[in-house]
Amino acid sequence: MPKRDKTNTDISRRIRNIPPGTSLESFLIHGRHFTEKWDFRHHIIPPQSSSVTYRLDRTERGAKGFQEYASGQAHKTHPIYIYDRLDEPTRGMLEDELAGIEGGDFCVAFATGMAAIAAALGVVLKSGDRVVAHKTLYGCTYSLITNWFPKLKISHTLCDMRDPAALAAAIDDSTRVLYLETPVNPTLELIDLEAVRKVADRVNAKRPDDRQVLVIVDNTFATPYCQRPIELGADIVVHSLTKNIGGYGTDMGGCVIGPHELEGQVLLYRKDFGAALAPKSAWPILVYGLPTLPLRLRRQMQTALEVARFLHGHPKVARVVYPGLENHPQFALAKRQMVTPEGEFAPGNMIYFETVEKDPAQPHNNIKVVDWIARKAYTLTLAVSLGQLRTLIENPGAMTHAAVPEDKRREGGISPAGIRLSIGIESATDIIRDLEQGLAQAD
Ligand SMILES: *Cc1c(COP(=O)(O)O)cnc(C)c1O
Repeated sequence: MPKRDKTNTDISRRIRNIPPGTSLESFLIHGRHFTEKWDFRHHIIPPQSSSVTYRLDRTERGAKGFQEYASGQAHKTHPIYIYDRLDEPTRGMLEDELAGIEGGDFCVAFATGMAAIAAALGVVLKSGDRVVAHKTLYGCTYSLITNWFPKLKISHTLCDMRDPAALAAAIDDSTRVLYLETPVNPTLELIDLEAVRKVADRVNAKRPDDRQVLVIVDNTFATPYCQRPIELGADIVVHSLTKNIGGYGTDMGGCVIGPHELEGQVLLYRKDFGAALAPKSAWPILVYGLPTLPLRLRRQMQTALEVARFLHGHPKVARVVYPGLENHPQFALAKRQMVTPEGEFAPGNMIYFETVEKDPAQPHNNIKVVDWIARKAYTLTLAVSLGQLRTLIENPGAMTHAAVPEDKRREGGISPAGIRLSIGIESATDIIRDLEQGLAQAD
């Protein structure tokens, strides 16, 4: 994999046809303005395309389209559209913006985040290979790696990637992928991406080109507004667009962003496994999600800090983890790694906390608090998922991370008394009032 320029944070240098110095925020509202993908010069809002198949004027045009597609040249400025599952204009516009803001060469969008994660791993790994992953992962990613990959003879080693020595020790000759989330879901620990890159570089220095270890980062929690892993050394970024980027909780989606060399493989994988993002779902993410991403996140981060401070001082709360709190064990790393393209500290909108329990193995207060909130709170909703306008609360041990066996959850720092909060855009005062009344139910 060629070395990437990690210092170039001016998006106008990577994206054609936008004025020099354009900020990420303006780009997310206006996009490229002109694109040959679709003539919408006279539209303010891009049309929502809805066409399964495309008229091909001559056999030659059809043949050229297929030939270009198979060679991974589909995402050029004048694509020949053939069939929705191969390539499609609304989804293509979304993909262009996502690749631009993450700093990748290409983006391929999938029906869900899990489809994207399966594709990113699927194009790199084959039977006999190993994936080394952080010990705590999104529940379904954990299940994909530990339940399904062994059937394909793809093995795994889980380690604590916060410790570069532990990571280096986990890598063997069969290892092809280092996979992680940062912040980690749900514990909000951080992994130092530059440190992971250094470990990968040391391993790769001794390997041939076709056996290089690739670093894959799930950037769903932070979004490119708060953290750009490719600038920090990741080879591939995956997202669940269902969460912060979609932002409104109306549509599912996922994407893979990476270096040019892998574009053809990811496109062919999507073509043959079939989980392409529907254009009707790409459209709201492009039209509502991306343009409001900085606005939503700024508001949510401001509220998250207030809520985290409130929880930190609360007698019924044993522990609060928020990367924006000075007491976060990796606060210095948070300040270095989680920043907007303008360089402002951007610790995200997710909070993890644990209730005080008499017997932490048999939590009692955790359930009482969350169940009271589920029934009585106005601004907090008991629901999985995250990154919406509404504040969502859940118990990861019992819900999102239930696929992880109990001993592994404990090893991974997911306490049965843990509660995950995804901060919405309501007033901080109202959220804190609801939490205060919920916590008053604890004994
Ligand atoms: C939700 C989530 C996923 C999976 O995304 P879906 O769109 O639900 O398939 C993957 N990673 C993280 C960190 C998530 O929060």
